[in-house]
Amino acid sequence: MNTCVICGRVLTQNEIGATKKLVNRNSTEFLCVSCLADKFGVTEEKINEMIEKYRKSGCTLFV
Ligand SMILES: [Zn+2]
Repeated sequence: MNTCVICGRVLTQNEIGATKKLVNRNSTEFLCVSCLADKFGVTEEKINEMIEKYRKSGCTLFV
């Protein structure tokens, strides 16, 4: 089971996918939506919108 490397929260498949998209496709350390938002200086809503956009476009990183 993957957890956020910053806050330790258990991650969803979409959060793992978002880290791969935003940080590094080969990343083995993942961040939750809150910590991704902090890291990139955006709102959690923005991250969720991005996840939704990729998910709708059929990206296999997202469920
Ligand atoms: Zn976190």
